[in-house]
Amino acid sequence: MSTESTVAIVGAGLAGLGAALSLHAQGISSTIYEAATASERFAGAIMLSPNALSILDKLDVYKKVVSSGWEFETVKFVEVDGKVTDQQYLGSKDVFGYKALRIYRNTILKALKDACAERGIAIQYNKKVISIASETASSATIEFADGAQGTHPLILATDGIHSRIRTSLFPQSTPTYTGILVVAGAVPLSALDTSSLPKDLTLNQPIGETPANTQPPFLLAPQNPTATDFLAGTQRRYPEQSREEWARINSDRAFQRNFLLEGVEGRSALMQSAARGIEDESANQAFEDGWSLALVMASEKVTQVWKNGGEEWLKVMEKWEGKRKERVGRLLKETMRMNNARAPKEVRDKLPKEEIWSGDGGVGQGRWIFEPKIEEWVEEITR
Ligand SMILES: Cc1cc2nc3c(=O)[nH]c(=O)nc-3n(C[C@H](O)[C@H](O)[C@H](O)COP(=O)(O)OP(=O)(O)OC[C@H]3O[C@@H](n4cnc5c(N)ncnc54)[C@H](O)[C@@H]3O)c2cc1C
Repeated sequence: MSTESTVAIVGAGLAGLGAALSLHAQGISSTIYEAATASERFAGAIMLSPNALSILDKLDVYKKVVSSGWEFETVKFVEVDGKVTDQQYLGSKDVFGYKALRIYRNTILKALKDACAERGIAIQYNKKVISIASETASSATIEFADGAQGTHPLILATDGIHSRIRTSLFPQSTPTYTGILVVAGAVPLSALDTSSLPKDLTLNQPIGETPANTQPPFLLAPQNPTATDFLAGTQRRYPEQSREEWARINSDRAFQRNFLLEGVEGRSALMQSAARGIEDESANQAFEDGWSLALVMASEKVTQVWKNGGEEWLKVMEKWEGKRKERVGRLLKETMRMNNARAPKEVRDKLPKEEIWSGDGGVGQGRWIFEPKIEEWVEEITR
């Protein structure tokens, strides 16, 4: 069994890599343990907004990836006849310093891994953590699937939605399904029959979201710099399934194709191929969490406290978690309002106006999301 002086990070996804780089920026070393192999690839593109992009900029990663993705500022809601009914800001160069960015997850993962390599942050692949074997006030021992163990002063669990560490520490805590299934895939421009698009909706617009009249929405968004590659998809309410059934659906192309095309008559000609992708929208929060935690740990009053562990460290973590939960709670409500805005008209008509996201407040209404003032609240909790 090895005893390390570095923080252990379990999982080399966006959250783990972002946390490792944030800790490094504050002079705190870490080792990352990743269950997958170094060559594993992850599907799909994600949308990163100014709150995440400003952190990636501080980590010296943003400028290396921005030209590989599609930059945009607004989402348009367009009816079948081409009428634009709403426009919402997801970024703004002038107001927040960054446009929003759609980018392939593999591109951003590679850039983060390259940055780790440059800074000497070790990533150990094929290292699946199975549990926390033991804990003392100032360290914890993790157990790997290959039988090895490692002891570190602190363990950060960034092992994704089905976290082994969360299950090991809090068996009663399970992820909650939002009730909305998104099926989307990458489609080349050459596979889109643009003649079936509503008139006035050109594909070189930043992002287009069609329908939402009586039908479920059809989402369309460029995701490479030349706008020759698109996200195309839909979302609507769908009953919760077992983990095994979600896994089956995730590889069932016929199900995905039917889900995509059902109820989107008039849009079906747009799609000649359908792919997949079922998930949430929390990559942006992952970067915020890594950055804020690193700032807390490096602050003058806490720098020794986390190494000592015990009650005092737990109190700091409770404060950090309190701030984080407050923000995540607000963001979840906002996500539901966004989902309601994408619901068919008959659903929206039954909802109070304040439960539906709208662009009426202009660019400034997103300020609390896109400019989170992390440094201020870290200062507040570490004072
Ligand atoms: C198609 C798709 C589109 C999305 N679009 C958006 C979007 O537009 N905006 C947005 O903000 N988010 C989006 N998301 C969600 C976003 O990708 C996730 O929130 C984000 O990837 C979560 O990052 P993570 O690092 O917490 O977890 P993950 O990316 O799941 O990474 C966890 C890592 O831990 C490793 N691991 C798991 N178990 C163990 C173990 N026991 N031991 C060691 N390692 C382990 C895994 O192999 C993995 O590398 C999307 C997701 C998908 C699939």
